[in-house]
Amino acid sequence: MASDTAATMKAVYFEETGDTSALRFGDVLRPEPGAGQALIRVLACGANRLDIYARSGRTPVKLPHISGSEAAGEVVAYGPGVAIEPAPVGGLVAIAPYLFCGQCEYCVAGEETMCIRGDILGLASQGAFAEYVVAPASSLVPIPDGVSASDAAAVGLAMITAWRMLITKANVRPGETALIQAGGSGVGSAAIQIAKLAGARVITTVGSAEKMEHARRLGADDVINYNELDFAQEVRKLTGKRGVSLVVEHIGPATWAKSIACLARGGRLVTCGATTGNEAATNLWTLFAKELRLIGSYGGTRADLATVLRLVANGQLRPVIARTLPLESVAEAQRLLEQREVFGKIVIDTTK
Ligand SMILES: [Zn+2]
Repeated sequence: MASDTAATMKAVYFEETGDTSALRFGDVLRPEPGAGQALIRVLACGANRLDIYARSGRTPVKLPHISGSEAAGEVVAYGPGVAIEPAPVGGLVAIAPYLFCGQCEYCVAGEETMCIRGDILGLASQGAFAEYVVAPASSLVPIPDGVSASDAAAVGLAMITAWRMLITKANVRPGETALIQAGGSGVGSAAIQIAKLAGARVITTVGSAEKMEHARRLGADDVINYNELDFAQEVRKLTGKRGVSLVVEHIGPATWAKSIACLARGGRLVTCGATTGNEAATNLWTLFAKELRLIGSYGGTRADLATVLRLVANGQLRPVIARTLPLESVAEAQRLLEQREVFGKIVIDTTK
């Protein structure tokens, strides 16, 4: 590991896009905090599908590139022009991954995730699969006592995304039934907990018998193995043909049409992702005749991150960490994600 005085650091980077063999582990230049930025010693960083989109070329990035969007660590230094230091040097912080300019009409209205110059840490900017990362000081959120860096990294993107979908955008209410797609994913495992915390009944889908157990332990009332049963038919049975009031989507074309078919009259579908592709067909007759609402939701804000971290500290939400791997194993983490072999988050512990 590089000492604090060295100009280099260990990082996982890629110089060309491709499969996981494009990932390199080695020494790169350690970044310096510019105006308004903080230098963070990374302690933990969650693995995300976004990392895979960047590495594979689905989401273009400037090369060479370091991914890693869901980071927590220790403040090492602030650059010039930081008016408010969110945490003292040496303090533990999570980086709110949806970066924003603070000046456009959406930022001024408090809608950071709609910023017209918005970025996600590790997309246009260099990410945190590294010993150090720089981020805007305004994006740092102090980690409350009792929450580890790994816990904070595990919830930093997935759980704030689920929080915004269910609470801010879809306004889930007690007594409603929600269908949560892919309960074993980072967003899904967070969404199950948030929907239960809000007092909803949860039906979720997973891909294996083992994951069914995990989902029940998180509080799901009914769990459907989508590899064995048609989830839309099962939802119909489980709701007495009524359908659900809310669907949490992030899969895309592989489930989209059936997710909509699962909605009751007046139901709403909220989506934050498109794992299986960007284009999906929608039955417009169903959409208007049942007076459905389709809602887009993008990431989460600093305030969402602070809320989620407080709920984790209180024990009301818990990070679901499937595996913790060292920095040199980012490729392995991406393979596990692509093969959907884990339940919950994979966290890279950069101190190992
Ligand atoms: Zn903005």
